[in-house]
Amino acid sequence: MKKLAVDGGVPVRVKMLPYGHQWIDDQDIVAVVNTLRSDWLTTGPRIAEFEAAFANRVGAKYAIAVSSGTAALHAASHVAGIQLGDEVIVPAITFVASANCVVYCGGTPIFADVEPGTLLLDPNRLEEKLTKKTKAVISVDYAGHPVNYDHLHDFCNQHNLVFISDACHALGAEYWGKKVGSLADLNTFSFHPVKHISTGEGGMITTNGADRAKALRIFRSHGIATDHRQREEANSWFYEMVDLGYNYRITDFQCALGLSQLAKLENFLKRRRAIAVQYDKAFSQIQGVQPLSVRGDATHAYHLYVIRLDLEALKATRQDVYRALRAEGIGVNVHYIPVHLHPFYQNQFGTKKGDCPVAEAAYERLLSLPIFPSMRDRDIEDVIAAVFKVCEAYRR
Ligand SMILES: *Cc1c(COP(=O)(O)O)cnc(C)c1O
Repeated sequence: MKKLAVDGGVPVRVKMLPYGHQWIDDQDIVAVVNTLRSDWLTTGPRIAEFEAAFANRVGAKYAIAVSSGTAALHAASHVAGIQLGDEVIVPAITFVASANCVVYCGGTPIFADVEPGTLLLDPNRLEEKLTKKTKAVISVDYAGHPVNYDHLHDFCNQHNLVFISDACHALGAEYWGKKVGSLADLNTFSFHPVKHISTGEGGMITTNGADRAKALRIFRSHGIATDHRQREEANSWFYEMVDLGYNYRITDFQCALGLSQLAKLENFLKRRRAIAVQYDKAFSQIQGVQPLSVRGDATHAYHLYVIRLDLEALKATRQDVYRALRAEGIGVNVHYIPVHLHPFYQNQFGTKKGDCPVAEAAYERLLSLPIFPSMRDRDIEDVIAAVFKVCEAYRR
């Protein structure tokens, strides 16, 4: 048995492999530079082009680009009509932004537990969270696995709720062959560097509702009904603020990057899926780790590759395995601390340990392994070798 790097042994690799990383090529750089040399740095033509290409890719009628995935969630929550006193059902396992957007609007996130296999919102736990105050559901396609959209759609219809999908992990994912981004009333995406495509910072909301699309455009620009270019074209200085909005605009050079990146999405997805296949195959032959389940109806987008540690088979905690893998040069991470356990939610909303037992038990065992399209075959081999090495050393 090889001595672990954490105990002074030789690491599997020297340079730390991150869990996610952008892939920017010369084409991307040229696209950005060309836009920097144009007349429009912001509110220009690249924005509508990126929106149209994105809407087309996910099969939605409208796409509205904003400054981040968090801004997209805030805009969607606002347009969903979430207000002071409203409750919104949110899964316990997600990034904090999926719940914070409800709080921005004065609402209360109601954390629902997840399914043990996929860690997606458990359809059987929705009914019990329903009250007269429930206004919406925000689902999360955790790791890139689409939620059960049919079930959520029916549930929201039946109870007159707005269905918001936080699809920040799931660009390119499909549910029964239907594209994520067209399946909820409002769908949100992020272009942070670890996500499927990047604009540095950036986000998108997609919808099939014309009124919602209009309201989203107003919300992203101070609540003002027309933008700078529209006024320029109409030869008019006049504008009215019709709603309270924010400056959540994205720039033209970011959208130039987004367009250039979107053209490469299919290749990015192919590579992510190929890496996942290799991991699945390797980890089916090892005791100590178990990948998350994948439903038969899902085409996974693999933003994350998450394993659960079989702590009964290991004489180590998740923290031990995390440290050991980092010492081997593998930049593992944990997605996520259940949102209801963060001090803010415990202090402000009275959430506590025990509220979502499945999420809390899963959290103790979670690790995300590196997965991103520019990973080399050698990198994949290093990850697998390090997981084998650490599991071997810690086997009971
Ligand atoms: C990345 C992410 C966000 C936030 O996106 P930003 O662009 O970083 O603001 C929201 N929800 C989920 C699930 C995410 O992964």
